[in-house]
Amino acid sequence: MIGAVLEVLAFAATVLLFVIVSTAAWVGALVLVGAVRFVRCENCNHLTMVHVRSIANTCMWCRHEYVMHPLHSIHEHAPHASHRG
Ligand SMILES: [Zn+2]
Repeated sequence: MIGAVLEVLAFAATVLLFVIVSTAAWVGALVLVGAVRFVRCENCNHLTMVHVRSIANTCMWCRHEYVMHPLHSIHEHAPHASHRG
C-alpha cells in the first residue's frame, strides 16, 4: 500500500519537475530569439514578460485587471456614495 502511494508521489514529482523545466526552457528560448523581454511593471513593480513590440510595460494582471482580479477591481473602481456631491 505504502509502495503504491510512493510510486504515485514519485510520478507526480517527476511530472511537476518536467513542467517546471520545460517552461523555463521555453521562456529562455523566447528571450534568446528576441520574442519577449523582461520589464518591471509600471503599475505594480512586478517583474513581467512582455512582447518585444509591446509599448506598454505593464504585467498581465494590470492589463487585464477585470479578468485576473474581478472582485478586487469591482471594489477599487466602484463609485463611493460618500464621495458624491
Ligand atoms: Zn502590474
